[in-house]
Amino acid sequence: MALKVCKFGGTSMADGHTMTKVKNIVEGDADRRFVVVSAPGKRFSGDTKVTDLLYKCYSDILSHGDCKRAFADVRKRFEGIVKELGLNFDMASVLDETERRIEEERSEDFTASRGEYLAAIVMSELLGAQFIDSEDVVFFDEKGVLDDKKTYAAIAAAVQGKSRAVFPGFYGRDVNGKVKTFSRGGSDISGSIVARAVGASVYENWTDVSGFLACDPRIVDSPKWIKTLSYKELRELSYMGANVLHSDSIFPVRRANIPIVIKNTFRPEDEGTSILPIAQYKPGGNIVTGIAGKKDFTVIFIEKSNMNSEIGFVCKVLSVLARYGISVEHIPSGIDTMSVVISGDHLDNFRLEQVLESIKAEVEPDFMRVTENIALIATVGHGMSSSVGTSARLFKALAEEGVNVKMIDQGSSEMNIIVGVKNEDMEKSIAAIYREFFTNINPD
Ligand code: ASP
Repeated sequence: MALKVCKFGGTSMADGHTMTKVKNIVEGDADRRFVVVSAPGKRFSGDTKVTDLLYKCYSDILSHGDCKRAFADVRKRFEGIVKELGLNFDMASVLDETERRIEEERSEDFTASRGEYLAAIVMSELLGAQFIDSEDVVFFDEKGVLDDKKTYAAIAAAVQGKSRAVFPGFYGRDVNGKVKTFSRGGSDISGSIVARAVGASVYENWTDVSGFLACDPRIVDSPKWIKTLSYKELRELSYMGANVLHSDSIFPVRRANIPIVIKNTFRPEDEGTSILPIAQYKPGGNIVTGIAGKKDFTVIFIEKSNMNSEIGFVCKVLSVLARYGISVEHIPSGIDTMSVVISGDHLDNFRLEQVLESIKAEVEPDFMRVTENIALIATVGHGMSSSVGTSARLFKALAEEGVNVKMIDQGSSEMNIIVGVKNEDMEKSIAAIYREFFTNINPD
């Protein structure tokens, strides 16, 4: 028998009406035994996600000692959900105890995690399923990284003999016994962890869209839906801004070759996108799988004669950045030149000045230039490596659109061409690349 782990995102958990859809989906398939939930998300545009209400609780605790007012909004959301669902259990006591613990713990991660905790309690009541607290089964090591062996063993033991169970996503426990969260959107990672631990045949990730599209629909009208993606293509696309799924969520399932299927809670009959260990590229099929872009990168260009023969040059530059705790996204290089591409989030003007001074002192370059406000666009697809002329087509499309390409980096995997353009050129560049590769192709 197949075994499915289903993760439901914030919009699927937004209110009683959407939670009833979740219940119908889970109960509609006996294989859907283990459920991971996010905190309730927005019910309408302009609404506030429960996790954001909880971050407000934490900032209130810091500024005036308690979170009475902010927690009242959280309480109202959950009381409304329980009432709408007609559930008959003592949610008021659960909420009182949660508020008390938030004020006692005074921890940002603990506070933020309570949206998932409360949502999982409600969902387990609704499904008549066992609630398993992720605090007891998901563990981080002393470096704050998932302790996978301990976690997988604890989850496997906890589900023994349970026909159905519900886990809160987003958090686990650190070596000091304190609750710790993943980064935002991290319930996707929790779902993947549970799928791996129970040996699922598939990890279904239920959202409010019917899978991945070949590019952002705000840029191109009705872009092509992606039927299948490989794990690697997903990494590239989600890192570069295609934000259907947290980009780290493939790691747990990847080692066990468990496919991820993106499904739509509001259109469950839609096939969705399957993310598989190996690309499904067929000769003559789509060369490009998807295009994604992200803005606000900074490029530091460095030139020095005979750079290529100076042993350790690149290493010295990178160690300066490491000293400042700055991670590098790309390093396009030539014989006497190299560039480092850094995400703008890591830099303010003051730090940039310091970094440049340190690089000068360390490697004495002939010339350095900084270009800010650069957008990176990734054109991704396994078919690219076996098709002649892909980059020529891509650059021709950009040239015809009048876009000045500031940087080029072809990933060594040959499934990815990254171009850097000015922030303001990003949308028209993506649209031009899309037209080039997705117009007049055979539907697969
Ligand atoms: N609720 C958390 C967030 O808003 C985690 C998640 O939804 O996956 O980021």
